[in-house]
Formats: sequence, structure tokens, C-alpha cells
Amino acid sequence: MFGWTGKLAIINLSKNEIKFNEPPLELYLKFIGGRGLAGFFLKPYITLEWDNGLIPLLLFTGPLVGTISPTSGRMTMMSKSPLTGTIGDSSVGGKFGTMLKKAGFDGVIITGKSEYLCGIEITDDDIKINRVEHLKNKSISYVHSIIKDKGSTAIIGPAAENGVLFSSIIIDGHFASGRSGIGLTMAEKKIKYITAFGTKKIKISDFDELKKAREEIVRLTSASPALFGNFGISRFGTGALYDLIDSRHMMPTLNFKKINFEYASSMNAHAYKKKYNPKSIGCSGCHILCKKITDDGTAIPEYETMSHFSALIGNNDIEAVVQANKICNEVGMDTISAASTIACFLEVSNKKLSPSEILSLLEDIGNKKGIGAELGMGSANYAEIKGNKDTSMSVKKLELPAYDPRGAYGMALAYATSTRGGCHLRAYPISHEILRKPVATDRFTFAGKARIIKISEDLNAAADSLTACKFIFFAATLEEYARVFSAVTGIKMFGQDILKAGERIYYNEIIMNSMNGFNSKHDDLPKRFFELESVNKEIKPLNREAFLLARSNYYKVRGLNENGNPSFEKTKELGIDDDLWKIS
Ligand code: SF4
Repeated sequence: MFGWTGKLAIINLSKNEIKFNEPPLELYLKFIGGRGLAGFFLKPYITLEWDNGLIPLLLFTGPLVGTISPTSGRMTMMSKSPLTGTIGDSSVGGKFGTMLKKAGFDGVIITGKSEYLCGIEITDDDIKINRVEHLKNKSISYVHSIIKDKGSTAIIGPAAENGVLFSSIIIDGHFASGRSGIGLTMAEKKIKYITAFGTKKIKISDFDELKKAREEIVRLTSASPALFGNFGISRFGTGALYDLIDSRHMMPTLNFKKINFEYASSMNAHAYKKKYNPKSIGCSGCHILCKKITDDGTAIPEYETMSHFSALIGNNDIEAVVQANKICNEVGMDTISAASTIACFLEVSNKKLSPSEILSLLEDIGNKKGIGAELGMGSANYAEIKGNKDTSMSVKKLELPAYDPRGAYGMALAYATSTRGGCHLRAYPISHEILRKPVATDRFTFAGKARIIKISEDLNAAADSLTACKFIFFAATLEEYARVFSAVTGIKMFGQDILKAGERIYYNEIIMNSMNGFNSKHDDLPKRFFELESVNKEIKPLNREAFLLARSNYYKVRGLNENGNPSFEKTKELGIDDDLWKIS
């Protein structure tokens, strides 16, 4: 087998047992790797509660990981989300995916629960489970500092150990597997950290062809203003979006009550560059290097974090934004959910917090102290308890990121239909509605959006499975990645074949959510977007009928019934009607 290692590790922590498995090529071709294969192995267990020992935590790389394919150093971490009850997953960067693959594994499936706090150490074809009770409740940077010589690290912090529903897993001290709260799954299994270190070479079918395919992608990215332009993400990080989103009247401000932040021009990516002069780092195998970090190792926040820890909660202190990001990465919490839950709390309690009070509240959430204990349940649960559920700006209980959907109707549809709840990355319509890539679409109409969102969801599912970073699709297409895939694996596939696999992967996720009772009732947006008149004349509330029609059209092109549930015919067409493979 080329590209894939052909080997999985299955760790049962309850039995302290490690087994290896070699799935057939047919399964790899159907689900590719990463998010696709992880979803395949999660499905037989998806109706169990998230904290049932049988629920697996899955770490999966893809066929391109560890090769010279651009941006291929990513991996998927997946389980059932403690926060939402949907599937819970994150594509995460750093070096972990590459190291895991070089250690000889396409994926690791962890089931059961350890009797003691443990660290799992993966090296070439070998896995050890260590007792590490002395690391209980220790911060992520502390644990990283003492285990980083063991290879790439995946660590949970005190937030997960204290039961915060939006706990993250931090890779290599900086890269967050944040959304969906599966840091808590890791804590439930009593795993403090996982390390991976490998020295094996990935087998490539046609290296010369791979080099040519890589050069083509690098050439396309060099010509992309969004990636390498003067204001692109290579230079400024994803924070480059801050000004643009505010100028399009889409910056979620004061819990989405407003669409512009009066301090935006002094809190944009230029301001961070001027104040901190950060250097660029990136995920393994990436030439874009969108991550920014100061000389003393402090991470400059991503756009979402920059926006939510400023506009969403009414804070105009840049240093407080940097420190809020740092606290989240120290205790292990998703920044989007943390900021959004604070915004919900501020609205419910009609309060305004100073920068130091915001930071102290974040510490309290991570350490389950005072009001922090209530907020650790996430905004939807908190708002429900307070009898004010419309103040949670979430979909399927996952807090919304930093794009107001009243300014981009594709985003409205994508938030509603996303298989992991309020997520911008399942389809990322900002690409065509705001960045105008690969072609511009009218951001104030639902017309044609059903089909575009469906195709984008399939594309991103394929990218997360190969793996490739979504940002690279501002410049390249699946045609280029099909060429890379064929060169690596020796199996000829065209862009449309990979897109079809993406459709299968996405539909499999819808089936899993449907098995847990999710349907059209949950594919909806907070009321605020249909009712609240904005202060800006350009941005109107969404028209409810137009939204429902677009959602109904989406169900049709996706092959779902009018309740948003999967059909037997589509399931059969995609070849996912006979795949109940239990982990053994
Ligand atoms: S563009 Fe950024 S997120 Fe994507 S692979 Fe490169 S460094 Fe990682």
C-alpha cells in the first residue's frame, strides 16, 4: 500500500490492551482517512452516551500526511461531542499527524477508561501507557514542557479534568483541537496526554509526479492575494479578516446584537503586528505559515478569538485578548465557546466586565469556581437554566463563530445544516460570499446557495480526510489534490471521485446525527437573526420563509427527506448501508 501505512492501533484502556488492525484497501478508498475513516469507526457506537466507556476517541491521519503534499500535516480528532450530542471533531495542525503516521499508524482508536491518570506514548510500531497521576490538574504548558522531548504532544488541561463541556486538546503547546469539547472525552478516559514520535518513511508511488503536482499547487498559492498578498494570511495570520468582516457589517458585537465594533480599527491584525511583531510558524509541511507567535512563545490569537474576545464581549484591550487566548490554551478551553458563553452571561446578567474581570472569569470557568462552574456548561445550557434560552447564540448547542449570518446568507444556511453545530468550517461560504473565491456569489441572497453549500461541505469533508488545510482551497482545487493523491497512492482518482468520497463522508455524519434524533428542528438559527433590526440599514433580519425554502432545497440536493433525515436510497447509492464494523 502506498500513502497509507495500512495499520491502525486499537487501545482498550479498561483492559490495558493494545491491538493492531489492518483495514482493507476498499475501506480506505471509500473513506480516504482523517475525518472520513474516524467517522466510519465512530458510527457503530454513536447512540451511546458520550461518557460511555465504549465510545472511542479517534485520532486519524490521511494518505497525504507525512508526504511533501502542501498543508498535509493535519489530522482529525473525533468522538461524540459532550457539548452537543452530535458527532464531535476537529481538524488540527502541528506535527502530531505527521509523527503518528511516521510511527506507522494511519489512526489510533482509544476505547475504555483507564483506572488511573495516564499518558499514552506512541513510537515506531510501539505504544506504552504510563501512570502520570502527578500531572493531575497541571496546566498544558507545564505538561508540554516536561514531555516535549517524547515527540509531538496532545494534552488536556484543568478545564477538561474539571468537566468543562467545551474543553479542548492542545497540540504541541499551540494548536487547538477546540470545537465540540472532546478534551472532556480525553479526561473521561483519564488520559492526560498522548505523544507521537516516528522515524519511518511514507511510501510514495510516484515521487517525480508528486513533486510536479506539489509545484503546481505552490505556484497557485503564490498568486493568491488571500494567502500571500500584502494583507494575506501568510503575513498577518487569520486576523487579516478582522477589518474585512467589520467593514462588511458582519462582526458579531455584544452577543450579536450589533454588527460593527467601534474599536475595530485599533484592534485589527495591523495593531497586533505593530504591538507584538510576531514571527510566523505553521503546521508540519505547510509553506503558508499562518500562525503567529511572539519571541517569548505567546500565540497571537486567530481571527475568531480576536473577534470574540473583543467585539462580542465589548472589550477594547488588545493585551486582554492575547491573555484570554493564553488562558484558554493553558487550561484547555475552546476560545469561541468560552467567549460566546461569557457574552451570553453578560447579556443575561446585564453586566459589563473590565479586562481583568474577563480574565479572572475565564480562570474560574477552567477551574470550576463560582459562576464559572455554571458557565462551563456552555451558553445553551446556561441560558436554558436562566430561563432565557434565546441569549445563547448557538446552533445544536455549539456557539457560533465570528461571522454574522445576516451579512452572508450562505453562512446562515451552513451554520444551520453543519453536522457539528454552529461551525463556519464545514462549508466556509465566507470564501465566495466575502473573499470572492473561487468565484463571487451575492451574499444577500439564498438563491443557489443550497447546492453551493452542499458541494462545499463535501469538499471540506474530503480535505479533512486527505488531509489538506481548507485555506489552500482559496487557491487550489480538488483537481490538483486528486493529482497529488494519485501520485502518492498509485490509485488514479479525479477531483470528482474525491468529491464523491466527501459526499459519502458527510452523509455518514448526517446518519450518525439522525441516529441520535437530530432533524430539521435542530437545523435552525437563533431567533435573533430573524427578528432583531440592525442599526445598519444595509443589514436586515433574515427572512424566515426564504431561509426555510433554502433549507428545504438543501435537503433535496443533499438527498434528505423534508425532516432533514437520510434516505435508504441515498445511503445505498453512497455505499454506506453495510458498514457496521465494530472495533475488536
Ligand atoms: S495555512 Fe495555517 S492552519 Fe493551514 S496548514 Fe498552514 S499553518 Fe496550518
